[in-house]
Amino acid sequence: MSNTNLEGLKDSKSVSDRDARILRQGRKLFIREFEKQLKQLDLLLDTIQMAAVADDLKQFYRIVHTLKGSAPIFGYVRIGKLAEDMVRAWEWTQSMDIDGEELLMAINPIIESSERSIHSLREMNMEYEISVTEIQMDEQQDPGGGSLLGSMKSRLLLVDDDEVLRNYLTRRLQLDDCIVDEAADVESAMKLLREHTYDLVTLDLMMHPQSGYELFEFLKEDPTLKWLPLIVLSGRNDLNDKVRCFHLGADDYVTKPFQYEELAARIYGLLKRTKNFEQLAFRDPLTGVFNRRYFDLQIGMELQRIERYPAPISLVFIDIDCFKRINDSYGHHVGDLVLQGLAHLLQVNLRSTDLLARFGGEEFVIALPNTTVEQALATMQSILNKVRLNAVAQYEGQTFSITFSAGVAEWHEGMTVAEWVAKADDAMYHAKQQGRDRIVSALEEDEETEHRKLAASPQIDKKNLLIVDDDPILRAILTSHLEHLPITITHASDGEIALGLLHDNTYDACILDGMMPKLDGFSLLSQIKKDPRLTVRDMKVLMLSGKKKEDDLAKGFQMGADDYMTKPFSLVELEVRVRQLMNIV
Ligand code: GH3
Ligand code: MG
Ligand code: MG
Repeated sequence: MSNTNLEGLKDSKSVSDRDARILRQGRKLFIREFEKQLKQLDLLLDTIQMAAVADDLKQFYRIVHTLKGSAPIFGYVRIGKLAEDMVRAWEWTQSMDIDGEELLMAINPIIESSERSIHSLREMNMEYEISVTEIQMDEQQDPGGGSLLGSMKSRLLLVDDDEVLRNYLTRRLQLDDCIVDEAADVESAMKLLREHTYDLVTLDLMMHPQSGYELFEFLKEDPTLKWLPLIVLSGRNDLNDKVRCFHLGADDYVTKPFQYEELAARIYGLLKRTKNFEQLAFRDPLTGVFNRRYFDLQIGMELQRIERYPAPISLVFIDIDCFKRINDSYGHHVGDLVLQGLAHLLQVNLRSTDLLARFGGEEFVIALPNTTVEQALATMQSILNKVRLNAVAQYEGQTFSITFSAGVAEWHEGMTVAEWVAKADDAMYHAKQQGRDRIVSALEEDEETEHRKLAASPQIDKKNLLIVDDDPILRAILTSHLEHLPITITHASDGEIALGLLHDNTYDACILDGMMPKLDGFSLLSQIKKDPRLTVRDMKVLMLSGKKKEDDLAKGFQMGADDYMTKPFSLVELEVRVRQLMNIV
């Protein structure tokens, strides 16, 4: 979590000039958008007069609702008031249960009053046009550009379909040292949330086609996003909405219109609270770097992300050389200073996306995303050079230098975090054996044997699928289509080999070709069902057959197959069935 300067609602003149300028630009954009909205409202009223369709009513309501929320933020209080009247007049059309002629009759009076309101809005717009010209003239004299402070920024996501408001908030927040991304609808918000890590989200409720509520569902289901700080920014000052949002996990609810300063203060408060909480729960008090608990949590999420968007990632295991000697010779206090010094040196030499944690005593781990083992080796080599050359601690006029030993391992698909850490730890141990003060990478050949082992013997923590088919091409197609599932796939090219494998290993499911040269699928199935050692394991069987014959199908089920597909089949359907059989959600 990072710092922010939102707190600094700074009083210097340049800052207030800067804020005023952004507000003026926001006003200008607002008026440009306002003109379009007036036209749209006119058109909608015409259509509604001919036939009141629920979609048009909704759209009309959405526009006046947006106006009500954003106009006052830009200082257009009268527009806000008129829009508010319209919102009140149109509110009931959002939940009506009449239609056709009856509805038209009922809404006739509000159509008339709305026409009058739109007329007044147009007149106001003319006045504002004049002020836009003034704004433009002002701008030309503006010196521009406030200074950005601080180096660590918070990353925010603004989800709102009101483009003008979004633009305005983005600019203000950027100048308050936030990195800001924008999403105009729920779908683009989801995409951004999958691709980036945010410190906070602001969410508008009334959006189209999906409402803000749908984003809550999405956030709740993803363990990496569940606790993301969230502020609802809504034009609805409605008790039900508020209660519902807080129940769904919102941290705050701000009603539009609002003052930017208030929103900024709330954002700042929330970021700070989150940061304090993190500090207590996830930081090592001695060195200030993340602790092992945080590392375990975060690394799991990182790997989930990589499963969705494959990229290399490497892990470094660091152990200080002969650290005990420092403690023994100079005392524990100096030992502590050395730990702090090394942690600091590591931190400043890493990228912000790298994850450094104190793993225990004098051991640190670093996860380096988007980094191959070779790149990680190079990075660590250069850090070790710096550690050798610079004293990491000072005490009573004396400086203290150290070296460390480190092991580097790249993650490969199917590897658990424990296996990965053990691999880097092993490599570190080799570095110690080779004389300390060096970086060693987990051997490539080592990894290959590991890989072969993984493919040949089923893993305990994954479900196992056996594919039995004499056609090598079909086996390859099935495998490439199913290997993204969290399963280990083993092949057999005929029934006899399959039977051997079935005796030695436990499989959760088996895809069985009906027609095979040696022992065909049906005979194999009958042997499986007869064998008491195999039947207790409750393996699911999916039969494949080349012939679309009713009696084949009946025979398969009679013999105890759990599912049946005839060739040619759709791979998508196959995957669905395999998921069902293996109980994979
Ligand atoms: P090697 O090069 O083989 O790693 O030798 P070493 O002396 O570094 O290894 P060893 O594991 O024997 O010693 C680690 C020492 O780290 C022992 C322990 O007292 C010390 N230590 C662990 N945590 C802390 C701490 O928080 N502060 C201080 N000052 N010392 C610590
Ligand atoms: Mg140690
Ligand atoms: Mg050590």
